[in-house]
Amino acid sequence: MPFAYYQKLNAHQKRIYRASDGVERIPLPRTDETHRIRDLVDALERALAGAERVSTERAAQALMDGLTTALKVPPLRIKVLRRRPAWETGELHGLYEPDEEGVPRVSVWMRTAQRAQVVKFKTFLRTLLHELCHHLDYERLQLEESFHTEGFYKRESSLVRELFASREHGDSTRIEQKPSLASIRQGPTECPRRPRDELT
Ligand SMILES: [Zn+2]
Repeated sequence: MPFAYYQKLNAHQKRIYRASDGVERIPLPRTDETHRIRDLVDALERALAGAERVSTERAAQALMDGLTTALKVPPLRIKVLRRRPAWETGELHGLYEPDEEGVPRVSVWMRTAQRAQVVKFKTFLRTLLHELCHHLDYERLQLEESFHTEGFYKRESSLVRELFASREHGDSTRIEQKPSLASIRQGPTECPRRPRDELT
């Protein structure tokens, strides 16, 4: 069952949407690199707990470098910013800005808009992985556009579970539980639905 905006897409976009919706997982390969990723997740958690922007950005960059290398896609540039931009109905968690010529950029915010509190680590990590999934849509699945589909959110959730499972059990491929439909439908970030169109 596609999201409501599917009906407004043209035939070409609908084909891209369905291709996106049909892929539920992008598994992390089981390599030495994957084991190193567990340490990078821990390092990012420590950095965020310290609430210092530059060290959080450095740790986020290191983790995303590890993930893009493991998944064999081109690198991303990570920008960690302070306070989330907000509007009446929500706030922006993350942003993926594709770049045809250079390195695509991911922006994530480390403090909430309302009270400027440091965001919870799991939310912060999920936002990073959400933006990574936009990158994987273009670079790994070779989609022309990156839509928020149920398949997209399932891919995001499977990556989140893999990273947390790898920390808790030392096994990067163990899946603990299926995500609830509610968590898939709501999605964790407010980043634009179609970055290529909306960010130019
Ligand atoms: Zn998004």
